[in-house]
Amino acid sequence: MFRSITKNIFKKSFRPSRLIYTPFRGIKLHEYQAVQLLKKYDVPVPHGQLATTPKEALTVAQSIYEMTGTGAVVKAQILGGGRGKGHFKENELQSGVHVAKNPKDAKTIAKHMLGFSLVTKQSGHKGLKVNSVYLVELLDIQKELYLAFALDREASAPVLVYSPAGGMEIEDIAIDTPELIFKEHINENSGFTDEQIERIVKNLSLEDHHDETAKAIQNLYTCFHNTDSDMVEINPMVVCSKKGVLCADCKITIDDNAAYRQKELAEQEDKSDETPNEVAAKKYDLNYVPIGGNIGCLVNGAGLAMATMDILDLHKGKAANFLDVGGGAHGEQMIAAVNLLCNDETVDVIYINIFGGILRCDLLVQSIMEANRENPFSKPIVLRLNGNKSEEAKALISGKERELGIHFEADFDGSARLAVQLAAEKAAQKE
Ligand code: GDP
Ligand code: MN
Repeated sequence: MFRSITKNIFKKSFRPSRLIYTPFRGIKLHEYQAVQLLKKYDVPVPHGQLATTPKEALTVAQSIYEMTGTGAVVKAQILGGGRGKGHFKENELQSGVHVAKNPKDAKTIAKHMLGFSLVTKQSGHKGLKVNSVYLVELLDIQKELYLAFALDREASAPVLVYSPAGGMEIEDIAIDTPELIFKEHINENSGFTDEQIERIVKNLSLEDHHDETAKAIQNLYTCFHNTDSDMVEINPMVVCSKKGVLCADCKITIDDNAAYRQKELAEQEDKSDETPNEVAAKKYDLNYVPIGGNIGCLVNGAGLAMATMDILDLHKGKAANFLDVGGGAHGEQMIAAVNLLCNDETVDVIYINIFGGILRCDLLVQSIMEANRENPFSKPIVLRLNGNKSEEAKALISGKERELGIHFEADFDGSARLAVQLAAEKAAQKE
């Protein structure tokens, strides 16, 4: 029904291979928000406006036509890339980026996007719900380029990764034509040198647009730097016959450690797609990744967390999540972590595996009891403690195990077996 502007559309049966959606820790901005930032830094972008209803999309498309004399491109706004090659879950629409020849067309397209979930390579199989569409003027694109500013840990410096082969996924370019990817490290204090700018313009074959390209790149870097971004990605940057160089798509994520000084941007973040557990994990700074099984794990230290998932797997059980409370975990965080697993419907059994180093096992047990007082446990807990103050911890719960629903088991292997067994029993009861 619709003409999609990406040539390579996935079939409806396509399912992303990466089934585990790893929540990105960082502040993500929608395209329309990122574009506002670019404008602020005097980076050239197409004319565009947001719409949240089909009717609004009609009005916006009309005003784009009056202003620029062109049709409009309707772009689904989700916090994830690969929209062009995505598909909608609940209807026939392919692609989250469509050309509307006239305003009525824009309205129809918006109607098929708004309220529906767009599945892309980055969205997870459930997709992400589209709550708004961004309409931009239709461009006469001659060339598509790729540009991204990021931090290079190895070089301890910001880096510009760029390619004259834009519009495609950078991972594909890296595999198929690695010689078309260039890098330029940037001096944090002095920015690009003139020599670097010349090289970039040349590698992008933008000599005919030298000054505007140089200015756009300098301004993009200032934007990246001043907003504490850990990524500013322009894919594609386009060259148009009438308007010259423009940034036609933009993804910005901001380092959440800098949220305190980027308050205005942090407040803009759209949290509507986060589950209550993701919100709680962020609030209490917990490292929490759902992975699909039914044994909720609460472990301290990434190494022990991995070992715990492995041992469950060995005994034919499956962890529901990765949850690392870290060495310095305090009472409130612990309570939040236990509540998080209690609230998670997919969790049948909670397996707490703690090695007390910096963390005191007695304080942990106090937090567990506190969590139970606030919100009595509805699921069995298998508890294994070892190390700092573990004897005191055992004394605290001694005699109360039954009342609390806690199965204390000191041995790593034994506790894992028990967790798997209880989880299997619970799952069988459900059937
Ligand atoms: P993404 O798939 O999420 O990265 O979404 P993009 O905004 O990058 O859009 C996907 C593709 O649509 C781009 O690579 C362009 O080829 C194309 N596209 C985006 N805007 C326009 C436009 O105004 N005119 C034309 N002709 N193509 C566009
Ligand atoms: Mn893009």
